[in-house]
Amino acid sequence: MGVPTLGCDCAVCVSAVSPGGGGPAPSPRNRRTRPSVLISWEGHNVVIDTGPDFHAQAIAAGIHRLDAVLYTHGHADHVLGMDDLRPLSFHSPGSLPLYADEQTALTIERIFNYTFSSDRQYPTRARVALHRIPTTPGAEVELFGVKFLRVPVTHGRQTITGFRFGSAAYLTDLSDLDPESLPLLADLDLLVLDALRREPHPTHSHLDKSIALVGQLAPRRAFFTHISHGLDHDATNATLPSHIRLAHDGLQLQFEIAPAPTGSPQSP
Ligand SMILES: [Zn+2]
Ligand SMILES: [Zn+2]
Ligand SMILES: [Zn+2]
Repeated sequence: MGVPTLGCDCAVCVSAVSPGGGGPAPSPRNRRTRPSVLISWEGHNVVIDTGPDFHAQAIAAGIHRLDAVLYTHGHADHVLGMDDLRPLSFHSPGSLPLYADEQTALTIERIFNYTFSSDRQYPTRARVALHRIPTTPGAEVELFGVKFLRVPVTHGRQTITGFRFGSAAYLTDLSDLDPESLPLLADLDLLVLDALRREPHPTHSHLDKSIALVGQLAPRRAFFTHISHGLDHDATNATLPSHIRLAHDGLQLQFEIAPAPTGSPQSP
């Protein structure tokens, strides 16, 4: 829902914006836009999900060029910013490629009918091409030499798409891990994982469950995302093991995206 959450006066929501008038200092890390990540390597820019905050996020991240967008699922907080790809797509040499599983693609096509419908295309529509990701675990989308693998995760009653790329995985919006996904999540340096709040929730993992999943998958580092106003940034971080942190808007992380080609010389 974003933090501050509309209509809420809880301490986290209040702290997320500057109260002014000499009140307590705001906690800018409690200000949370809807979840999305930009992955940049060797001049390539790939975004996962374009939610309703995509325009502001792209400005804050200084995105001038985009090579592809991957989608996790069709919920509003992950797709509603698709139309803001228009100016970025106008600068693409061909169509800007979007990748989504069948269910998500159908939702995007329905919401943005004026973009995709063959008989009613809006003249200045986003110049995008929507490609289907097969639903098989480990299905690959290869972009500029990097394989993005589909990691099926359970999100309430749906199975949606998480992604493994290099030594990192991005698993937003999950209530459970599918057993067939476990091999795809071995040897992780960096895991970004849903942790909505303290209390259990029908469609999202909560803090204790996400901590247990980190223990099970054993990545070197984990960052929690999709955080509601139920978790104060600093107070929650103070209770977490040092290799687990809450993510925050604007957080930048480095990781190995492509393994060294096989047969390359080993360093001594
Ligand atoms: Zn609140
Ligand atoms: Zn969702
Ligand atoms: Zn969501």
